[in-house]
Amino acid sequence: MINLTGKSVLITGGSRGIGAACVRLFARVGAHVAFTYASSEVKAQKLIDEIGEEKVKLYQFDLATETDATDLVNRIIADIGGVDILVNNAGVWEKDEADLMSLKNWERTLRINLTGMYIITKAVLPIMKKNNFGRIINISSTAGQRGEANYSHYAASKGGMISFTKSVAAEFGKYNINTNSVAPGWVMTDMTDDVFSDKEYMEKVRKEIPVQRIATAEDIAGPVLFLASEMARHINGEILNVNGGSVLCG
Ligand code: NAP
Repeated sequence: MINLTGKSVLITGGSRGIGAACVRLFARVGAHVAFTYASSEVKAQKLIDEIGEEKVKLYQFDLATETDATDLVNRIIADIGGVDILVNNAGVWEKDEADLMSLKNWERTLRINLTGMYIITKAVLPIMKKNNFGRIINISSTAGQRGEANYSHYAASKGGMISFTKSVAAEFGKYNINTNSVAPGWVMTDMTDDVFSDKEYMEKVRKEIPVQRIATAEDIAGPVLFLASEMARHINGEILNVNGGSVLCG
């Protein structure tokens, strides 16, 4: 039912996990897709081989170090014709206690998750403004709403994403640019692989989720696509929790 033929999509962190599920889904509904990765070139190339070079393009862009995405966005426009939809998905989740964490680690997470999102968004907004059309979807987290012990830097970065989402929604809605966020709970990806290698803990997590299952990356990609579609044209500044009904953030 959702058809994005003729639309161009940029997805950050498309090489793995939720980003890769978004790349597959957007390509399936007809969009031209560009995605970025930091270092997983082999995985990124595999995704291109799977979907086809005519539908998907990849770009190396490290959010930990880059300060301007203008060139990246210009290359993407030249390759796929525009950026109508932006999915800010790339991120890191690295355990560190607030009292012991080095400033370097604090800044790394804030840099990738929050400043990285801003750098990409800043480069895309003028294009969307000029076209009087845009859909921005920021992948935040339950942690950005209720906090997360041992991940205060991560929670702060995701809380920042949520405030940024609401601000941009208010600022750019008049240009037909809708900005929303999808906030996942637990999702089975490389990010949670280590934690879920403890099967007892994984089972505990599963049982605590009202729907009794842990999300797959595809469970998150669907709501992202919905927010990018015409069905969601009157939704702006919303934080869509996709967590199986977990408490404190619905
Ligand atoms: P993932 O499987 O670890 O994939 C992370 C993606 O981000 C990869 O494509 C990675 O690129 C990219 N990335 C990491 N560091 C980067 C950097 N410095 N510059 C550019 N790209 C970088 O993670 P995921 O679980 O799919 O998570 C995707 C998003 O959902 C994140 O924002 C995360 O915070 C959020 N989220 C995840 C969960 C969960 O339980 N998994 C829960 C809530 C929210 P490379 O492959 O090149 O490293």
